[in-house]
Amino acid sequence: MTTNSVKAWGAAAADAPLKEITIERRTNTAHDVEIEILFCGICHSDIHTARSEWGAATYPVVPGHEIIGKVLSVGAHVKKFKTGDIVGVGCMVDSCRTCEHCKSGYEQFCEEGATYTYNSPDKHLGIQTFGGYSKNVVVDENFVLNIPENLDLAAAAPLLCAGITTYSPLKHWNIGKGDTVGVVGIGGLGHMAIKIAKALGATVVVYTTSPGKAADAKRLGADDVVLTKEEGAWTKYRTKLDFIIDTVSAEHPIDKYLSQLKVDKTMCLVGLPENPMAVNAFSVVSYRRSLSGSIIGGIAETQEMLDFCGEHGIVADIELIPINQINDAYDRMLRSDIKYRFVIDMATLA
Ligand code: NAP
Ligand code: ZN
Ligand code: ZN
Repeated sequence: MTTNSVKAWGAAAADAPLKEITIERRTNTAHDVEIEILFCGICHSDIHTARSEWGAATYPVVPGHEIIGKVLSVGAHVKKFKTGDIVGVGCMVDSCRTCEHCKSGYEQFCEEGATYTYNSPDKHLGIQTFGGYSKNVVVDENFVLNIPENLDLAAAAPLLCAGITTYSPLKHWNIGKGDTVGVVGIGGLGHMAIKIAKALGATVVVYTTSPGKAADAKRLGADDVVLTKEEGAWTKYRTKLDFIIDTVSAEHPIDKYLSQLKVDKTMCLVGLPENPMAVNAFSVVSYRRSLSGSIIGGIAETQEMLDFCGEHGIVADIELIPINQINDAYDRMLRSDIKYRFVIDMATLA
């Protein structure tokens, strides 16, 4: 299979900063779309992976799965896209497509394991996949998304991961008018959860460790804010919430959040801390509560989410950065200093 050399930014080891490298991309097969990357969001999963926090990564790691780009060329059998189209790529670039889950639109639960956009076995080249911190990417048309025309392209990039990861559980648990939803952590995922839960009609209570984010939380649409480090934080909404979406990237006290749920209600983890977290059985036994989780969403649901965001004019609040500021952005995210998603302007990768 022929390849092209492409500029990218990647990490050579778990403790190495990201720097410019060259990677190989396959030339289009008949079903591929070659995309010039215009913008790529920075997700906390990029940091977890680049630093081998979820187990040993395969280096170099080129992260990035919130990709917005322009179609440069298409393979002979591509039907859905043409040169010049503005498109998106999220967390998956392939799956088996034949198992029960793939056939039901749940590629994220593929029995063979989905091919993730980075650090996943690449079926074509036999190496690891490389993500969106790069000049271009080649993806099967079935894993490429349409971007609504009315959305700002840089600010739409985070929808491809932060958007779908919060939309999918809110829809799965039928959140809407009359529900009071707790959103835990205001970073990339959390701030999208606020916007999407509000658009679905819910009342939103935000839980944050950062008092400096309280005013922003309200501006983003939250009806109330709980500062979790303050005395008495857990009293006001004790047994009052219908659902919790927990986006926190580090270990935190799960039992305290569970105490906020009504009878039979669910707390859904989407954050993926490096280390296991303890749960006291009393927290779920009381009130028959459920602790669950959710991972991204299928391809069809991702398109549904993009269309929903187009209809409601929902995009991320972003800080657009040149590519040489990736390492600083990582440091700021690790300090929870995030307002509320970094997006890389790929034109700065000359
Ligand atoms: P992010 O932008 O860095 O935001 C994480 C937020 O968590 C922080 O801004 C902070 O919010 C809060 N936080 C951080 N450390 C904390 C601590 N020790 N205790 C309490 N709160 C803390 O990260 P992100 O990109 O939104 O990603 C969040 C997590 O979701 C990551 O673990 C990521 O890997 C995971 N993720 C999962 C999926 C999935 O499919 N399930 C998809 C994408 C990402 P406050 O300042 O408001 O407290
Ligand atoms: Zn992500
Ligand atoms: Zn499958």
